[in-house]
Amino acid sequence: METFRPRHTGFCFGVRDALALTSTALDQSGDAAALGQVVHNSRALEALEARGLRQIQELPREGSIPVVVTAHGATPELFEDARRHGLQIVDTTCPLVRRVQRHAQEMAEQDMPVVIVGHAHHQEVAGVAGWAGSAQGREVTVISSLEEADALPYRERRGIVCQSTFPQPLFREIAERVAGRSGELEVRDTTCPVVNQRQREALAGLLDQVDVVVVVGGRNSANTLALAQTCAARLPTHHVESAAELRPEWFEKGQRVGVTSGTSTPGWVVDEVEAACRDL
Ligand code: SF4
Repeated sequence: METFRPRHTGFCFGVRDALALTSTALDQSGDAAALGQVVHNSRALEALEARGLRQIQELPREGSIPVVVTAHGATPELFEDARRHGLQIVDTTCPLVRRVQRHAQEMAEQDMPVVIVGHAHHQEVAGVAGWAGSAQGREVTVISSLEEADALPYRERRGIVCQSTFPQPLFREIAERVAGRSGELEVRDTTCPVVNQRQREALAGLLDQVDVVVVVGGRNSANTLALAQTCAARLPTHHVESAAELRPEWFEKGQRVGVTSGTSTPGWVVDEVEAACRDL
């Protein structure tokens, strides 16, 4: 099978740097605990676990083991809590997620109700809501659809930010609807340029060249799911986490296969999937 791959696949710089910081902590301490998944890929996670990384859901009350805040970030309350308990934090928040947090914080400081466009249960969104002052009782609303935008109460003035990996075209549409529910709306487009570029590369090149697409990435990776949705709107698309999941019956003889990936997928996993597609 002939394969095509866009220019950018594999880790984004945010995940790559987060992994490097985690790796350094493991080298220095021999073990570390991550608040959630440092990378949405089981084999990359297993490699870190073999070196002493474990996953936790809540901040420990005490202990000397370094605690990793993942690239998705965390609330200011969590950092404060860690400081009070004398914990060592390894902050790997991606600078582009930090940018979303800063915008939300600035808006809250100007007494604006803040709308976050994103998925309510996502770790990044929970962190951004914290920076927008949700724990201090400020008005922070998370929405992800046009219907939810239309249902917002009218406000004289408000601000809107976006989960970094949310699809930019839908964010723009939602922001327009929210403007209709607001006297004055401050829009900060905080979508991630790396994710936007992958979406653009899929739409502008890859989908015109191929018959079927394989998107490689974790099933709980928001940007991988969004990329798979974009591709599936135009072509038969299969979302896999590794080469072992590929099924020969998905492909017909002579088809051209596009292989792309989310930003938390290691390049070597994409290489393996592409090689397996070629061998089909
Ligand atoms: S996808 Fe974008 S925001 Fe998320 S970690 Fe990568 S560079 Fe940062």
